[in-house]
Amino acid sequence: MLNEPVGTVAGAGALLAILRDGQARTRAELVQLTGLARSTVSQRLDALLTHQWIVPTEDAISSGGRPAVAFAFNSSARVVLSADLGATHARVAVTDLATTVLAERTSDLAIDKGPEPTLQWLLDTFLELLDETGHTVEQVCGVGVGLPGPVEHASGRPINPPIMPGWDGFPVPEWLGERLGAAVLVDNDVNIMALGEHWAARPEADQLVFVKIGTGIGCGIISDRRLHRGAQGAAGDIGHVRVSSAADVVCRCGNTGCLEAVAGGASVAAKLAAAGVPASNSRDVVNLVRQGNTQAVQLIRQAGREVGDVLASIVNFFNPAVIVIGGDIAEAGEHVLAGVREVIYSRSLPLATQHLSIRTSELGDRAGVVGAAVMVIEHVLAPGTVDRAVLH
Ligand SMILES: [Zn+2]
Repeated sequence: MLNEPVGTVAGAGALLAILRDGQARTRAELVQLTGLARSTVSQRLDALLTHQWIVPTEDAISSGGRPAVAFAFNSSARVVLSADLGATHARVAVTDLATTVLAERTSDLAIDKGPEPTLQWLLDTFLELLDETGHTVEQVCGVGVGLPGPVEHASGRPINPPIMPGWDGFPVPEWLGERLGAAVLVDNDVNIMALGEHWAARPEADQLVFVKIGTGIGCGIISDRRLHRGAQGAAGDIGHVRVSSAADVVCRCGNTGCLEAVAGGASVAAKLAAAGVPASNSRDVVNLVRQGNTQAVQLIRQAGREVGDVLASIVNFFNPAVIVIGGDIAEAGEHVLAGVREVIYSRSLPLATQHLSIRTSELGDRAGVVGAAVMVIEHVLAPGTVDRAVLH
């Protein structure tokens, strides 16, 4: 209100938010939708056009006379660099502003080599992929990275990650940001998977819990359609919740009795190996289940029950509409789901389970890169951020 020209253009971000649903709209439709003066809408559209956030399209269905010009969100205005780094493998992608993957690469990657070699590899891969898509670094609006450990949300730095020696407190956003000249957002891998799955597969769910069962176990929480990170970014770390069946089993975190120590992929593989079935990681376990190995099927079902036991309390506490099971072990499909469902339905309150949907991830191993892109897009296209960008 203090400065009229700024105040007028400053609503551009809100106008863009309306157009982001993918539907093209005419000036008249936008005037009607927003209740704003036609001149105000025009000024904001001009600002968005100048920055290429929107493009004019001819509205073919308008009745009679010459077609009215409509405006649509320009999802190819910029690109996003996105990475899902796991303990042993990585997926890296370039996406547009609608999370469409334009180029991607998967690779084995040992995160325990430390931050500098890992991030140098990531930087090189980003640049190669950008080149493949015909884009330049100047067209990158942001970078999203998921890491397999706790990340302090405010700083984007990993904090005491148990399987990432050398990464504690490493300034990942600054290291990549200096070299790419774009904002870098970092989060833990299961949080970005929850974001990706919610965005792409279950946008209508207000409350969603995404459980990753891989080597370790963790969950990402969507509350009122937003990621709930907790005070420091540690929310959802259910892998280290104490379960009675784990009693004296030592976990990699140093404590005893953790869920992950009895139901994580590494634990199931170790049990199979002890029984004389060759298995060393969660992928081996999934392959055995797919081959119909009886011991593997029984152990996976039991792991599902252990996870279900902890989730039953979470269902009572949080009342989610959807629980999505993802991560390597989720590829064992119905066997793990059956164990999870069995315990949740018998242990949770009827009101909480009445309409509860428990399913495996639709995005599968792409949930992370899609979610890392969503994290960046939501940041870059937030109305306030757009308003600041169009003023320059
Ligand atoms: Zn633990």
